[in-house]
Amino acid sequence: ALPQNGSLRIQNYNETLETQQRHRLHLQQAVRGATQRGEMSLAFQPKLSLATQQVIGAEALLRWYHPELGHVSPADFIPLAEASGDILSIGEWVLEEAMRYIVQWRQQGLLNDRFHIAVNVAARQLARKDFAQNLLTRLAKHNIPERFFALEVTESGLLSDMHNARIQLAQLTEAKIAVAIDDFGTGHSSLAYVKTLPFSTLKIDRAFVLDLEKDTVDRQLALTITQLAHAVGCNVVAEGIETAAQADYLRSIGCEAAQGYYYARPLPADEFYRWCTNWKPHPNLTPATESVNG
Ligand code: C2E
Ligand code: MG
Ligand code: MG
Ligand code: MG
Repeated sequence: ALPQNGSLRIQNYNETLETQQRHRLHLQQAVRGATQRGEMSLAFQPKLSLATQQVIGAEALLRWYHPELGHVSPADFIPLAEASGDILSIGEWVLEEAMRYIVQWRQQGLLNDRFHIAVNVAARQLARKDFAQNLLTRLAKHNIPERFFALEVTESGLLSDMHNARIQLAQLTEAKIAVAIDDFGTGHSSLAYVKTLPFSTLKIDRAFVLDLEKDTVDRQLALTITQLAHAVGCNVVAEGIETAAQADYLRSIGCEAAQGYYYARPLPADEFYRWCTNWKPHPNLTPATESVNG
């Protein structure tokens, strides 16, 4: 009976693998053209100053609703779109859509000088020799001052062409566009990136925020990342804040800004607009004047 069992298990295992691969292939094909079919949208998650509790901006996060598959997480489809190259056209759609909202919200008076919209960019996008120029041209076309716009780059993706990445980022920071290293501390070469590439912001990954209350090592890591960022002239944004205690600790170590379910989930554009107009900074906090980007 044993060998039979064994081969049966192997067969099931292969079937599972095959099913998974078929599912991924299906997803990868479905992603293609999803923007043109109107299945994609942007959600916006507010970023707050930890010192003043004022909204300093928002991160645009891609959402995909497929008629049969339902909601598909970007964590699942972004890597597939990166592998297929579809991320390039999706990324352009994200940039255009984000700029469309910036124009609209400026007209509605939501955006002031201390309010930016940050867009995530994939390594494949940054690998293009004309990425920065293309972005600056788009901003000019929409009459959007650079300070309203920011980028987040996931560190794991930069590796392939550091030389070009540096040229693109230098052009953007020169134009006063805030650029953040996303998910800082979770990749392989965080420190090499800090050394080589011109960033203005480090985003502390949620992995370091999650257990801040009970894990002294995580508290030490968050403190060290914040000090490192400040030492090299960067701002710090923490992601994934879910409790007041996490926010309090991060504020106490000088982390400038925070983002997380504790304040708001990523919201559809109209809800985000309403959330911003209703948001009241906590009255007991001492007002501070500094602002951050990223
Ligand atoms: P990210 O850029 O690090 O974005 C933060 C993720 O954490 C988002 O997941 C957000 O919904 C989630 N999040 C925020 N606050 C909390 C919290 O308090 N608790 C928990 N548990 N999660 C929180 P999301 O929207 O699923 O996006 C996943 C990743 O997909 C993003 O990570 C980003 O790397 C990528 N992504 C999303 N939109 C785009 C895009 O337009 N272009 C590219 N290239 N990547 C994108
Ligand atoms: Mg991000
Ligand atoms: Mg992040
Ligand atoms: Mg993250």
